[in-house]
Amino acid sequence: MKGDILVLNSGSSSIKFGLYDGDDGGLPLLGRGQVEGLGAAVRLCAVDRNGEVVADQTLGEGLDHGQAMAALVAWGRHREVAREIATVGHRVVHGGARFKAAVRVDTAVLAELERLNPLAPLHQPYNLAGIRALAELEPALPQVACFDTAFHRKLPPLAQRFALPREYFDAGIRRYGFHGLSYEYIAETLPQVAGPAVADSRAIVAHLGNGASLCALRGGQSIDTTMGFTALDGLPMGTRCGNLDPGVVLYLQDTLGMSSAEVAELLYHRSGLLGVSGISNDMRQLLASDLPSAREAIELYTYRINRELGALTATLGGLDALVFTAGIGERAAPIRARVCELASWLGVRLDAAANEQHGPRISTADSAASVWVIPTNEEWMIARHTREVMTGPKPS
Ligand code: ADP
Repeated sequence: MKGDILVLNSGSSSIKFGLYDGDDGGLPLLGRGQVEGLGAAVRLCAVDRNGEVVADQTLGEGLDHGQAMAALVAWGRHREVAREIATVGHRVVHGGARFKAAVRVDTAVLAELERLNPLAPLHQPYNLAGIRALAELEPALPQVACFDTAFHRKLPPLAQRFALPREYFDAGIRRYGFHGLSYEYIAETLPQVAGPAVADSRAIVAHLGNGASLCALRGGQSIDTTMGFTALDGLPMGTRCGNLDPGVVLYLQDTLGMSSAEVAELLYHRSGLLGVSGISNDMRQLLASDLPSAREAIELYTYRINRELGALTATLGGLDALVFTAGIGERAAPIRARVCELASWLGVRLDAAANEQHGPRISTADSAASVWVIPTNEEWMIARHTREVMTGPKPS
């Protein structure tokens, strides 16, 4: 493929970007950065492939996604950072029942993806705002949507099903799973880091970032995961509640008189680590705090990870490997230590020194399941899928 691949991850208040050399089969990174503070004081920060700062500047006050994208494109042109952008790959959280693989975006695809906004209100509208803004600025530039749900497309039927009448499943109310770009990257990296035997075995990956989920892999395929219809299910997260008795939602609305917008605000923005601690959604702050509520939030977080780990281990019929990834998984040694301590019933034995060094292997030689820390790279995965959509899949 000729030309570079720009990868965009548009969120509510930031646009993260990475530029990959599409002429090189390994898709090396040429530079990366982010536009942050959308809607307020908007700043652009970027580094080149060597980590040298190439931008650290204010773009303007109160810019929305479209305006920020225009400023970013203008900056890229001016800097000649974009040698020749051939295509743009976007992270799109939800592909719904229809989009089971990355797809080139046209007006009809965009309209269909917009119908999924209520299923991922923290992400999908912003992901799509980035695509729309760029389509207006550069109508001839091909854009590809890469989905967090796609890696879970082969979930066994039972893992996709809620215990609801069939017509709801047929209407798309089913378990999709998320963080798929991260899990796919880990599944592909695991053989190199841990060896093919581990990669072929029964593994659970813990993606612990602002969003958090676990994924059970058998032979590198997702066979179950803790997130379901929306990215609200499963583990408690930075501000999301995770798994919740659906009766709580009915009670909040019918008995406490909360509107659905108020319930959504509570479950998406005021729960999880932030809600329990009353301090922060940032794990660094909680780990540094002496306050009992910070400890309680961490205890609940790790308790729930252990509980879901047990459930997925049962689904797998045993556990051979556990992998930590994403912000907390890669950098919060005390959280990994606590999860491994709770998982000692599985024969997990932590190598404390290796854990402090962040791995890659953090279990002792006699641990019944090996434990790993592997940095994820969702952006690279998006670049790979984008190239595949434009050129056809690589021969396997
Ligand atoms: P996102 O899901 O937005 O991509 P990340 O994967 O970057 O988020 O994860 C963000 C989380 O990682 C935050 O809770 C942050 O506090 C935590 N984190 C980042 N660095 C550290 C660290 N050194 N120690 C503990 N937690 C960390």
